Amino acid sequence: MDINNIIKNAENSIKEEFDKVDELCMKNSEKVLSAFKKNKISEAHFSSTTGYGYDDIGRDAIEKVFKDVLGSEDALVRSQFISGSHALTVALFAYLRPGDVMLSITGTPYDTLHEVIGIVPNNSSLKSFGINYEQIELINNDFDYEKIKERLMKSKVKLIEIQRSKGYSTRKSISIKNIEKVVKIIREIDSDVIIMVDNCYCEFVEEKTPIEVGADIIVGSLIKNLGGGIAPNGAYIAGKSNLVNLAAERLTLPGEGREVGPTLGINKSILQGLFIAPSVVASALKTAILASKVLEDLGYKVEPRYNDNRVDIVQNIEFGNPDKLIKFCQGIQMGSPIDSFAVPEAWDMPGYTDKVIMAAGTFTQGSSIEISCDGPIREPYIAYLQGGLTYEYGKLAITSAVKNIIE
Ligand SMILES: *Cc1c(COP(=O)(O)O)cnc(C)c1O
Repeated sequence: MDINNIIKNAENSIKEEFDKVDELCMKNSEKVLSAFKKNKISEAHFSSTTGYGYDDIGRDAIEKVFKDVLGSEDALVRSQFISGSHALTVALFAYLRPGDVMLSITGTPYDTLHEVIGIVPNNSSLKSFGINYEQIELINNDFDYEKIKERLMKSKVKLIEIQRSKGYSTRKSISIKNIEKVVKIIREIDSDVIIMVDNCYCEFVEEKTPIEVGADIIVGSLIKNLGGGIAPNGAYIAGKSNLVNLAAERLTLPGEGREVGPTLGINKSILQGLFIAPSVVASALKTAILASKVLEDLGYKVEPRYNDNRVDIVQNIEFGNPDKLIKFCQGIQMGSPIDSFAVPEAWDMPGYTDKVIMAAGTFTQGSSIEISCDGPIREPYIAYLQGGLTYEYGKLAITSAVKNIIE
């Protein structure tokens, strides 16, 4: 079978899905533009600070723009966050105190949080500070509403964590509709438990944010959706002002909080990244939809299917054997702009339990809003594909990867 025909046939049957993505992109673009206008963004905001970073007007304006785009009271957007996992860690350490209970209601959290929580022993974990952790598994890809109610009625929980995107698991990602439903149920029992959502990979994929359906705080990475492939690093924490401020005091130091944090020349990149993020997320979604259709046509199990409602930009492809998974990732690498000549191999990544293979021919190291593909080397050998700065480059990478598995 000719690879170009396979791609063309798939493209012909996903036109309706692409139209929906275009509509979404328009709405998100309007949201971003109106936040820029409301906050009167001007060239002065591209300026930079060094040292302590006092009075950084660009940084302060960026945080207002993010707050408006995310529909939250407040936002902390900083390059001093190394990654999304770091921002999640800062938030958890900011809100939890010895003796408190943290409860995950989406089963096991993202791999990098295992040592943070103490699920995997670490001398600096939350557990080492006497913070207790419990989790409730999902049932049929939805919350176990009954168990959640029962647990909340039993004794005080300080913080509930919801991970929207599936991470390296085989479950489905959680929709805003279901988050809205669970938040209502939680609030009927406990009006002040902190509801924190790991929002990684989900920004601009659904129309509402978790904040707009009642979550207290959301956390995400700038080398994913909202960075638009332009932000060089960083992450955000957005939500209730008191919680955003607690996170700032923990990220820097008590007493200085958000007043410090030099931007070292990245303000323009963060603003420009957010500006094109609706369009970049749309390209990533189209790339994922194409991959889903093509790989399904080739007989692989995919999740989500091309015409499913999407919650995040991640496309799972189940290969059932390690060789195809590795070949697929290598094909993505060959079809990437940076290090196309490198051959990725599975390795022991810090923070992950199994060996992981990662294709990331990206301008920004580890950026997964750029076309990237990875997967832990464990059954059932699933590739997690995401990103695509433009649909055309996404399509070229998919073409390269499919070629590599069928040849
Ligand atoms: C990517 C991701 C994170 C954070 O990962 P970093 O690589 O540290 O930015 C956390 N949770 C989920 C579900 C993710 O997809």
